[in-house]
Amino acid sequence: MPDTQDAIATLTRIAQDPHAYAQGWKRQHQRKVIGTFPMNFPAELVHAAGALPVVVQDDRAPITLGRTLMYEFYCGYARSLTDQAATRKLGVFDAFLVVDHCVALLGAVDAMRFELPEQPVFLAQYMASMDEEWTPPEVRKQVESLQTQLEELCAVTITKEALAHSIRAFNRNRQLLRQVYDLRRSGRTRITATQMQTLVKSSMVMDIEEHTAILSGLVGALEAERETAPNLVRLHLSGHFCHGPRPELLDVIESCGAVVVDDDLYTGFRYISTDVPEDGDPVDALTRWYFDRNTRVPCATRAQKNVDWESYLLGSLKNSGAAGVVILMVKFCEPHMLYYPELRKALLRAQVPHLLIETEHEGLAVESIRVRMEAFLEQIRRPAVTTA
Ligand code: SF4
Repeated sequence: MPDTQDAIATLTRIAQDPHAYAQGWKRQHQRKVIGTFPMNFPAELVHAAGALPVVVQDDRAPITLGRTLMYEFYCGYARSLTDQAATRKLGVFDAFLVVDHCVALLGAVDAMRFELPEQPVFLAQYMASMDEEWTPPEVRKQVESLQTQLEELCAVTITKEALAHSIRAFNRNRQLLRQVYDLRRSGRTRITATQMQTLVKSSMVMDIEEHTAILSGLVGALEAERETAPNLVRLHLSGHFCHGPRPELLDVIESCGAVVVDDDLYTGFRYISTDVPEDGDPVDALTRWYFDRNTRVPCATRAQKNVDWESYLLGSLKNSGAAGVVILMVKFCEPHMLYYPELRKALLRAQVPHLLIETEHEGLAVESIRVRMEAFLEQIRRPAVTTA
């Protein structure tokens, strides 16, 4: 059984430099690398075409040339994508495929199209209004159009069998990651928030079979550990669309006397929450997945009448036993900013303590966050203090 720390170290190295991994994969396999974007892209299609799907990540470098292409009041992720295009850091990608998601992302993709005219960019317009009668057939058409694009790009025919195989491969990976989530919730194993980010982020950028092989060993080792988590305040991390929060932020949250037991972050449970149905037509299944994901973990970028994020969040807290919520909001993330009042009202009504932390691409006020976290944890440990 592989050593847990070795497996995590390997995945951390890859998650920190996904472009180097993709270069190596490309050299070894002589196949294409396709950049995809959050939060609803079906990576299975790219895999079935024989290419490597990579969710393009935020880059920590300060934004320089990208400033001339996108205003400062766009979220850091969109500005980082633009900057990576302007500074020619996206050369490993043979093409980019995007499923409609939010205005800022569409702006970034336009800027990439402008900066990188040699690299094809294809947009599939998924409907955000989930309840309309015409939404499922329209989304199905978009899945088909992605398939056609990939077939042209990779000069292959994506067979039903290949797609069904890819669906099973990604489901297996998601199931293993959800097992780690279950272990963390149960308190039977101690896995830090930063390590969890590493596991999910590496699954977004790696060959899925290779990732699953490492992960299977890791899950086996974690199951065997049965380490009891120390008596810390149990927290749920919520929000942070499109890219992972910085490790130093997660570390400071946990270093104040808390343990993160669950999350609905995009680079987290949101990404791996839902499997694609394995029966029936695979294109239908990928269409179904789009709707199932939003029912499982509702997203502020989609509109659906019978589900809402706040109900999901309160249900998750019951399930994990988290005593409080830290909401991590990407600065200028419009969908999250607009939804936050609903979350706040629901948490206040349910008397769940919560703390909002806004994150910025440009830096992190670690010490100020530490002070706020310490006060927040004190409020949870001694609720009388808040009412005195
Ligand atoms: S959803 Fe938020 S974080 Fe993601 S691209 Fe849009 S504005 Fe940025």
